[in-house]
Order: sequence, then structure tokens, then C-alpha cells
Amino acid sequence: MNKLSDYAEIVRKNVPMSSLTWLRIGGPIEYLANPRSEKELLGLLSACALEGVQVRALGDGSSILASDVGVPGMAIQLDAEPFCQIEFDSPFVVAGAGAKLGRLATATASAGLAGLEGMVGIPGSVGAALVSNATTLDAAIEQCVESARVATLSGEILELSKDELVFGRRVSNLSGAIALSVKFKLVPDDAEELSKRLQKIWIARKKTRPELDQGGFARMFKNPGAQRAADIIEEIGFPGTRIGGASVCESDPNLIVASDGCSSDDVKRLVALIEKQANERAGVELERELVIW
Ligand SMILES: Cc1cc2nc3c(=O)[nH]c(=O)nc-3n(C[C@H](O)[C@H](O)[C@H](O)COP(=O)(O)OP(=O)(O)OC[C@H]3O[C@@H](n4cnc5c(N)ncnc54)[C@H](O)[C@@H]3O)c2cc1C
Repeated sequence: MNKLSDYAEIVRKNVPMSSLTWLRIGGPIEYLANPRSEKELLGLLSACALEGVQVRALGDGSSILASDVGVPGMAIQLDAEPFCQIEFDSPFVVAGAGAKLGRLATATASAGLAGLEGMVGIPGSVGAALVSNATTLDAAIEQCVESARVATLSGEILELSKDELVFGRRVSNLSGAIALSVKFKLVPDDAEELSKRLQKIWIARKKTRPELDQGGFARMFKNPGAQRAADIIEEIGFPGTRIGGASVCESDPNLIVASDGCSSDDVKRLVALIEKQANERAGVELERELVIW
């Protein structure tokens, strides 16, 4: 029987969430685990289930707003090498959940495989992108997914075919599981053209990002359908608005910037205010991208 104490080598206690999230906000998480293999992950999951420890998957932390007082339970981050591999068997590509989505977009474009190049510049891991069905204005990751391997929180592995995966607008039927890897089916195309296209998209996306010395940042809302959340926030006059240490980015109003001393409450208050105003003044119900821990 696995015990949590058997995993001391890969579990750290009281790690500040500010060091794990793009917003650079948040008190300590009770446990942070970085398993080195699938076997270790499964053992850890069953130990957590046995000891009643709440488990959450942590990717690159680009969408997480963590509480200032800390987060109970265990975050599991699949950043060890076996979880970050990208393997080609054209036109198929298998990517580990811990691989960065941007790296996958670049690698597939360079290999002359089309379908994921539009995902360049979307922060985060392949696992989170799968579970949240990462989407650009004209494409969604679901369009290329062939199958996925996931671990249940009780420590069981499931292989799900395309027919068993259900995707909706920025959701899937995988929430509550830990994505391990994804098999994509892509379309052979000209590598040079794909790389040029990717570069253009990357430059356009990078242009609207705040400078890193302005503070941490994150995207507040999902785009409602074909509309951009940024345009709605602009329309209701929020760019530059500040509450405490949190402000709305001027170059991309769907980004919230957390300057030094910003609290999780500052972010929550500003996000709630925008939500309310978007509803009252633009008649739009914005749905949060930020995941609150
Ligand atoms: C500047 C900027 C631009 C963005 N543009 C886009 C965009 O165009 N399109 C878009 O879709 N998103 C966009 N996002 C949002 C963000 O990129 C996505 O939500 C991304 O999928 C988050 O990945 P992550 O690894 O950082 O996840 P995290 O922030 O670590 O986690 C987010 C959620 O995913 C879950 N999760 C993480 N890893 C796994 C796993 N292995 N298995 C199961 N669940 C997991 C977490 O539990 C959490 O609920 C943008 C964000 C920023 C900051």
C-alpha cells in the first residue's frame, strides 16, 4: 500500500504559489509533487486518494490565480522529461502533457505537419491545452486530437479514442483527470511555409504582451464565441483600470497585470468588476479563463 511519506523525494511542502504561476501571486501550496515516471505518478495518486489529500494538476501556471493565504492539498506538475517528450510518426505526433504547447507548435511546423502552428504563443502545457480545448479565433486543439492517455485521481490509466473524447467551447470531458499524453493527427504540408506562418502569428501575439518588468500577468476571460473578450473590455472602457496592484493591460485588455504587492483579492475584485460591467453595459456574460485555487 502506497503512503504519502514514501514519496518524500518528489514532494516538497509549502512551496509559494507565487513561484509557480504567471501572475506571481499566492501563498504556499501544502504539497507540490514532480513525479519522475508514470509509475511514480500512479503510486502518488493512490497514496493521496488513500490519505484523503486533494489533488490538482498544475501545468505552467499561466491561468492560475492562487489565494494569498495558500492552497490546501497537492499540486502535481508533470515537468519531468518522460512527460515532456514529443514523438513523430508522420502524420501522427504524440506529445507528453508536460510539453509546452509553443514548443509543440514549432516542432510540428518544422517537421512539415500542419494543424498546430496556430497554437504558437498560447502559453502553457499540452495537458492543460487538451483539457481546456485551447482555442484561437479560427481553430481549436480538438480538431487535431486523435486520442489521449489520462490518469484518474484513483491512479488508473485510461486510453481514450477520439470518439470517447468530448470537447465543447473551451471545455472537455477530461476535467477531473490528469492528462498524460495526446496523440495528434496532422496534415503533411510545406515546412518552410508553415514556419513562416507560425512566425507571423508569434510576432503578432507577442506584440500585445506586457513587458515582464511590469509584473506578472494572465488572461482573464475566454473569448465568447467569435467575439474577442479584449474587444468587449475595451468597449466598456477598462484598459488601464487599476484596483490595488492589479491593472488591465492597455495593449491587450484581456490581460490582467499584477504589479509588486498585488494581492489575489485585487485581481478577483477587478475581474468581478469587469464581469459585472460587461454584463450590464455590453450584455455579454464573460466566462473566466482564470482558475481560482
Ligand atoms: C498571454 C496569454 C494568452 C493566452 N491566449 C490563449 C489563447 O489564445 N487560447 C487559449 O485557449 N488560451 C489562451 N490563454 C490561456 C492559457 O494559455 C491556457 O489556459 C493554457 O491551457 C494554460 O496552460 P497551463 O499549462 O499554464 O495551465 P495551468 O495554468 O497550470 O492550469 C490551468 C488549468 O489546467 C489544469 N491542468 C494543467 N495541467 C493539466 C493536466 N496535465 N491534466 C489535467 N488538467 C491540467 C489545471 O488543473 C488548471 O485547472 C492565454 C493566456 C495568456 C497568459
